[in-house]
Amino acid sequence: MASYVDQEGALDIAPEAASVSDASTQDLPEYAIEAHQLRKVYKASGGQPAKEALKGIDLKIKRGSVFGLLGPNGAGKSTFINILAGLVNKTSGNASIWGFDTTVNPRQARGAIGVVPQELNVDPFFTPAEAMELQAGLYGVRKADRRTMEILEAVGLADKADAYARTLSGGMRRRLLVAKALVHTPPVLILDEPTAGVDIELRRQLWDYVKELNKRGTTIVLTTHYLEEAQSLCDEIAIVNHGEVVCCEPTEQLLSRIHEKRVLVRGENPITQVPESLNMLRAEITDDGQLSVMFNPTEIKLADILARINVAGIVVADLSTQEADLEDVFLKLTSD
Ligand code: ADP
Ligand code: MG
Repeated sequence: MASYVDQEGALDIAPEAASVSDASTQDLPEYAIEAHQLRKVYKASGGQPAKEALKGIDLKIKRGSVFGLLGPNGAGKSTFINILAGLVNKTSGNASIWGFDTTVNPRQARGAIGVVPQELNVDPFFTPAEAMELQAGLYGVRKADRRTMEILEAVGLADKADAYARTLSGGMRRRLLVAKALVHTPPVLILDEPTAGVDIELRRQLWDYVKELNKRGTTIVLTTHYLEEAQSLCDEIAIVNHGEVVCCEPTEQLLSRIHEKRVLVRGENPITQVPESLNMLRAEITDDGQLSVMFNPTEIKLADILARINVAGIVVADLSTQEADLEDVFLKLTSD
């Protein structure tokens, strides 16, 4: 088929920066993405006041990981990603992709990532095969190096290669966007809310493919507001809220917070301060005068806690325990 964009029309993106396979491991950066004090203020416009969408983000995303950016709507996830993609100008701070600063080496930085945008904007007049060729042209991928059918095959769209995009379902469009993001074989793939509006079956397919890509060496960054999704896919999770990173830790560590329980104790007499015997636990007095102790049952038994309370001379009138879950952790970290 005809190329829609000649080489003169190619975006200012270096395809040579894009391949994982042709670099020797020792030259590879430790971090696929680094952000230092990254800030974004959207200027006031059309009656809307100025908005500080990112308030100085510090993040390091390890090469080879599946990294989740988790946060409620409006947290700043897309802004962060769009700055990396070169679609939004940062206000201050730095970001680098694969070791290339996005302002000092924008060509190489952009060549090192593929971005699957949040919006399902697929040009209805191109077939998937044409859309892939167009994208390859934009990225200056030489004809001999193009892998249109191979990639379409991988995302399960081979049989739709010549179908009109307007006939594709939402899930197929999503997969086409993934395929387009991969034309220049970027070492880092960023997916912005990739499963919003995608049914469960397709979601699984998409995740299997993402896992497969990761196994073969691609670093994956995804944003989502589905906690479960982040839990099952990501090695590490950063929770963002109101333009700030409120926590960033390995998923397992985050999950261990979920295993926490809370015990609430009401004394025969009002409890006014946390007994010394509980100092090494996260204990506090609630507004209604109960003693609250957060604990991880794999580390300390409830009976031990009660014994410590007893030692402090507190006579227990009533006692209840509560489970915490990721929802709790998330709410706690993102509440004002
Ligand atoms: P998320 O992807 O986490 O939902 P966004 O990055 O899209 O968050 O938005 C972060 C904040 O910046 C929101 O308050 C949003 O309204 C605002 N915002 C996003 N894009 C623009 C824009 N182009 N102009 C002005 N404000 C914007
Ligand atoms: Mg978003």
